[in-house]
Amino acid sequence: MKLSSSLEDALNRQIGMEFAAAHSYLSMSAYFEENAWDGFASWMAAQSDEERAHAMKFYRYLLDRDGQVKLPDIPAPIIEFKSPLDVFESSLSQEHEVTSSIFNLYKMAQDSADYATVSFLKWFVDEQVEEEKNVSDMIEKLRRADGNNEAMLMLDRMAGERLAEEGGG
Ligand code: MG
Repeated sequence: MKLSSSLEDALNRQIGMEFAAAHSYLSMSAYFEENAWDGFASWMAAQSDEERAHAMKFYRYLLDRDGQVKLPDIPAPIIEFKSPLDVFESSLSQEHEVTSSIFNLYKMAQDSADYATVSFLKWFVDEQVEEEKNVSDMIEKLRRADGNNEAMLMLDRMAGERLAEEGGG
C-alpha cells in the first residue's frame, strides 16, 4: 500500500523533529562540558546519539515504504542555560513536544487505516514514556538537591554511570 502524501509529509517533519532534538541535546552536552559537569555532558551526548538513531528509523521507514525523504531545515538550538535544572526542564518540554507529535502521527496513520505505520509507531509511543520518565526523575532529584554542591556532584556522577549501565545509552 502506498503511503498517503499527507502521512509522507508528516513522517518527514518527524525526521526533522528528531534531528532538531539531536541538535538540541548536543548543545546541552556542550553547555555541561563547558561548565565541568562531565556526567551530565555524557548523558546529553548519548541522548543526542539516540535522537539521531530515531531520525534514521523514520528515514529508513520512509524508504522501505517507497516514500520520498525530504529532509527539512533544522532550527538552531538554545545555547544559554541558567543551571543543570534549567537544562533538564528544557529537555522535558522538548520531549513533551515530541510525544504529542508522535501521538498526532499515530492518529493520522489510524485515521487513514495505514496499519503498517501504526505498528511502526508503537515503538516510539513506548520510547517516549521511557524518555519522559528518565528526564522527570532527574528533575525531581535536582530539585531535591536544591543547588547543594555535594548532592549536585553526586547526581552528575550518577548521570554518567547510568549510561555505563545501559551500555552507552
Ligand atoms: Mg526521539
